[in-house]
This record gives sequence, C-alpha cells and structure tokens, in this order.
Amino acid sequence: MDFIRKTLIFAALCVPLAPHGLSAQTPDVVVSLKPIHSLVAGVMGDAGKPRLLLKGSASPHTYQMRPSDARALTEADLIVWVGEAMETFLHRAVENLGARSRVVTLHEVPGIRLLRNREGGIWEEDHHDEEPHVDEHEDHGHEHGEFNMHIWLDPANAGRIVDEVAAALTFLDPARSAIWRANAAATRKRIVDLHASLQARLTPVRGHAFVVFHDAYQYFERAYGLNSKGAVAVDPARAPSAKRLVELRAALAEHKIRCVFTEPQFEPDLVRTVIEGSDVGTAVLDPIGADTKPGPDAWMEIMRGLSDSMAGCLGRN
Ligand SMILES: [Zn+2]
Repeated sequence: MDFIRKTLIFAALCVPLAPHGLSAQTPDVVVSLKPIHSLVAGVMGDAGKPRLLLKGSASPHTYQMRPSDARALTEADLIVWVGEAMETFLHRAVENLGARSRVVTLHEVPGIRLLRNREGGIWEEDHHDEEPHVDEHEDHGHEHGEFNMHIWLDPANAGRIVDEVAAALTFLDPARSAIWRANAAATRKRIVDLHASLQARLTPVRGHAFVVFHDAYQYFERAYGLNSKGAVAVDPARAPSAKRLVELRAALAEHKIRCVFTEPQFEPDLVRTVIEGSDVGTAVLDPIGADTKPGPDAWMEIMRGLSDSMAGCLGRN
C-alpha cells in the first residue's frame, strides 16, 4: 500500500471522533453581518469558525446574494441573521431551506430589545408641498413604521445574541456544551467591560445634537443617552434627493446640529454638500465595520469606532 493511500485511510478513520470523544466537526455556522458574526465567533472560540456572508463595505440594505452564498446556506447547520427587514437578500433563501439547517432569526428572539423606527422632525421627508397620496397605506418604503432592525448596536442585545447562539450550538453539538457556555460567558464579560468604557467616553457629549446618515444607531444612542435629531437618508436603499439635502441644510441651525455623520456604505459627498459653509462637523460612523477584520474582536471594534467618531466630532471645541 502506498503512503498516500495509507494516509487517506488513516485520515478517514480519524474523521468521526476526535481524541476526547467530541465529533471532529463543529457545526457549520453561517452569519449574515460582521458584528453578529463576531459575537458568534466569540462563542465558537477555538472550536470552529463561522462563515460570514456580507464582507467589506457591502450594505445589507442593497446586497445581492451570490452563488457561493447560496451554497454556504444549503450546507449550513446553523444560520444566524436579524430577519427579512434587515437582510432582505436572504429572505427567500432562508424560506426555501430544508429541515437541515437551524435558523436563528434574531429579531424574534425573546429578550431582544426592539425599538420602533422614528418619525417626524428630520427623521422623515417633508411632504407638505407634495400632492397628497391617494392611498396613505401604500408602501412607505424601508421599514417605515416598523421596528428598527439594527439591534446589534445595543450591548444588552449583544449579550442576548451570545446566549441564544450558545443555546443553538448546544442543541446541535451538546458534547461541547461546556465550551459554548464558557466562551459565551467570556464574550459577555467583554461586552460588559466595553460598555462601561464607552459610557465613560460618551457621557461628556450626551447633550450635543447630531444627524446620522441613516437611522441605524438608535440602539447605540439609547444605550448611551445620545441626542440624535434625524437622518440624511430616509430610505437607506436609495440616495437622498436634492430636495432632501436642501431641507436638511435648513434644519442644521434650527436643531443646533453639531455633527452630520457619514457612512462608508454610502456616498460621503452628499454629507459634504449639506454642511458646506457651516461650522457643523462630520465624521464617519460604520455600523457594520467595512474595514474591520472579521473575528471575535470585530463587534468591540465597531462599537469603539462609533464611540470614537461620536465623542471626537461632538466633543471638539
Ligand atoms: Zn441600516
């Protein structure tokens, strides 16, 4: 028997069980968004690596699924996503999955805090000079009037996500339950520690008014008592109109806005147009971590990035 064949047979014999009676394969986990992937990676620790669908600066509001994503989904034991109002691109694929995959739809998880999308003021477009709509109940666009789905930017929700993922992994791979439990506890501790440091950093800028690019941050704002007044883009799937930008410019002084934040997922020039010639500052907020390396630290880095941008821009002299 040649060496390669011997090696293959040996490898085949080794696959089913690792030395300590644990199956060699940990569950195959697919996660849609980087910050949530990060929390899942924390729970899996050294035992396995979850797969991330949305990489780089792709926006979940406009993403189109690729063939490799579809394959990853059909092979997955566990899929973790927020839900169809966030990852619209995943909706049909998740619906069509067979019984093989277990799906954790985070916005439905008990104990996850849900906040409503905001209306009025500069949270929505000024419709006063438009023709009245025939049917007021027609589609008002993205998530309007529904719950806001950027749930991962709340440290309490992040802790809840960690617990739910640990429970799902325990169901799929009970032999490693002690590992999942220990990793979940360590990840929760990191979340709590980070929360305390962000609280200290953001307390001095609590009163300062600002405008975000799209309504992605209310969980973060609520957690740290921040004073946001509105969003540039009412619908994150569409660029704001010229009329909207004029409207915003007029609102800056009225609301004593100190900063208008941009995002790497969207066109920064739009924000520059809005603040040009005023003393309003700008900085980048990135709710999904376009340049952040995927892994257990990503959620912490994304949260710290938001905190640094907000404290830096709002706290400047
Ligand atoms: Zn968003």
